[in-house]
Amino acid sequence: MDHVIGLKCLICGNEYAVDEIAYVCPDHDTDGIVDVRYDYDLIGQRLRKEDLAQSSDPTIWRYKPLLPVEPESPVPPLTVGGTPLYEAPRLAADLGLTHLWIKDDGRLPTASFKDRASAVAVVKAREWGAAVLATASSGNAAAALSGLCASVGQPNVIFVPEAAPQAKIAQLLVLGSTVMLVQGTYDEAFDLCLHAAERYGWYNRNTAYNPYMTEGKKTASYEICEQLDWQAPDYIFVSVGDGCIIGGLHKGLKDLYALGWIDHMPRLMGVQADGSDYLWEAWQRDEPVLTKPPIAAQTVADSLCVGLPRDRLKALAAVKETRGAFLSVTDEEILAAIPALARGSGVFAEPAGAAAYAGLIQAANQGVVSPDDRIVVINTGNGLKDVAGAMKAAALVGTEPHRIAPDLAALEQALSGSKPTTNGHKKTGNN
Ligand SMILES: *Cc1c(COP(=O)(O)O)cnc(C)c1O
Ligand SMILES: [Zn+2]
Repeated sequence: MDHVIGLKCLICGNEYAVDEIAYVCPDHDTDGIVDVRYDYDLIGQRLRKEDLAQSSDPTIWRYKPLLPVEPESPVPPLTVGGTPLYEAPRLAADLGLTHLWIKDDGRLPTASFKDRASAVAVVKAREWGAAVLATASSGNAAAALSGLCASVGQPNVIFVPEAAPQAKIAQLLVLGSTVMLVQGTYDEAFDLCLHAAERYGWYNRNTAYNPYMTEGKKTASYEICEQLDWQAPDYIFVSVGDGCIIGGLHKGLKDLYALGWIDHMPRLMGVQADGSDYLWEAWQRDEPVLTKPPIAAQTVADSLCVGLPRDRLKALAAVKETRGAFLSVTDEEILAAIPALARGSGVFAEPAGAAAYAGLIQAANQGVVSPDDRIVVINTGNGLKDVAGAMKAAALVGTEPHRIAPDLAALEQALSGSKPTTNGHKKTGNN
């Protein structure tokens, strides 16, 4: 792994060799998040962007020379990466925009963005020779680790809040993880997992605490820029809970910029749920996030429900250094964005995924983005992850099925009440 220079603490700036520490800088308890540093000259000699055009590997491993793994390390067989970037002209027109794309990471193997990180976790755990992997999660990181572990027969232990959506818990049980339904919040599950992994010697995938999760997540930036022919967009909208995804997107863009593969940095727009908007608050009020206490988080977007964002340093840097912004959207805006995004693009998002689109709606309404800007919105999770949330969203926009007797007369009557459209039986604002 000679392309990795070391691990740099985001608090004190100390640098460590990659085999010196497994997770955080030891001087700040569990808060000493580190950044993986690379030798870009060496990487640039080993991989040229022209080579990528010839690569037949559609997964994140097409970028292996840019990832913090040994070149010869085996990678799990599930195809993580290569998700579509759809042009969305109807959504763009609705918002007075002209260039809008939806990156659909709901299409990954366990149906969320988290697969990008968990794939790297499984490789790192094997490099470290760990017998067991563990993670705490609001649900999707767990499902991702569970799936990636199942693909290679790796034992794993999962800590999720017992209030996690059924579909996510079902994934864990079916995929064969040892599942701890924690009677508490995600934040409590996170701390329990930290202690447990330390006590039992498990390899810990916990977001932020494990520096390699950022590195898996950064691959989405590579894909977006490659799919746009290395013409980086002007804005990327993504939802934020712990802040690992937005930090990862930032890292990927910085890598590409350092290699000279893109000529500008897109602005990163972090969208939070207003019941769980620690980072938005800190950014608005310029509060120091190392001392700002946790908030009491509550939102319909369970994947964003975080009292103390564990990757807050990287998330804040992502927004500040790219001159982006944090946005805060209500649960109602999040739910309304689910059918709006789905009907305008065909992409069905879970609440946390649709939150990114709700953020774009807000930014467009406030004139934060301009008609000519090239904008990417990332859907981070599949709508089938949270059917209860989806049903709430449908009800909120007044979509109801017709319940009819099985005969043509009943059908005729139902049809006469409302004209069918391509988007369902009732026209709403966002067709
Ligand atoms: C985890 C998750 C997020 C938020 O990612 P963070 O790294 O916690 O900020 C957003 N959407 C979905 C669907 C997620 O699972
Ligand atoms: Zn330090």
